Order: sequence, then C-alpha cells, then structure tokens
Amino acid sequence: MQVPHIDGEICVSCGICAYVCPAGVIEVKSAPRVVKPEACIDGCMECVDNCPTLAIEIVRQ
Ligand code: SF4
Ligand code: SF4
Repeated sequence: MQVPHIDGEICVSCGICAYVCPAGVIEVKSAPRVVKPEACIDGCMECVDNCPTLAIEIVRQ
C-alpha cells in the first residue's frame, strides 16, 4: 500500500493536505498527522501536488 510521508522540517502546518485529501488520511491540528494510512488512494497524489512547500512524498509499504 502507499502512504504519505510528511517532512516535519519543511512543513508549515498550513492544513492544505488535510483539506484536499478525499479519504481523510491526514489530519492537521498543530502539525499534520497521518491518521488513516490504510485509506490512501493509490495514484491520487492530491496532497503531494497541493503542498506549497513540497513536504509530502508518497512511500510504498
Ligand atoms: S500541505 Fe504541506 S505544508 Fe501544508 S500542512 Fe500539509 S505537509 Fe504541511
Ligand atoms: S495521496 Fe490522496 S488519498 Fe493519499 S493521503 Fe494524499 S490526498 Fe489523501
């Protein structure tokens, strides 16, 4: 399965990734967290494409 990996060093906690994710995989409070990795949709890439700081990559597990 694929899951998003967020680089906390370059993330600015804007919340866009959680907003654009159609599957509720990411939650952003003070910092983003992957809360439902099993729901990530293969090939979606919305979070990666919309992150303003390029902090997200999709990794295969
Ligand atoms: S969109 Fe990018 S910068 Fe914004 S909270 Fe998500 S990972 Fe962080
Ligand atoms: S790839 Fe798509 S489904 Fe998976 S976390 Fe990113 S926005 Fe959500």
